[in-house]
Amino acid sequence: MTNEILYQYAIDENKKLVHIDIVEKGTKFICPECEKEFILKKSGKTGKGSKQPHFAHKELSQIVL
Ligand SMILES: [Zn+2]
Repeated sequence: MTNEILYQYAIDENKKLVHIDIVEKGTKFICPECEKEFILKKSGKTGKGSKQPHFAHKELSQIVL
């Protein structure tokens, strides 16, 4: 388990706040709170067992505990 918040919004390249549902892969995203880089966690799958799409901090996700 992780305590990381599953962010639904991010700042895109145009400095606009965007919702996860309308974003596309390959775009850079920034955290609205701390302005650090986000990565998009969005699998193509939907349905049972698939994780809800979200943004995560790039830095945090690279740390293995
Ligand atoms: Zn942040």
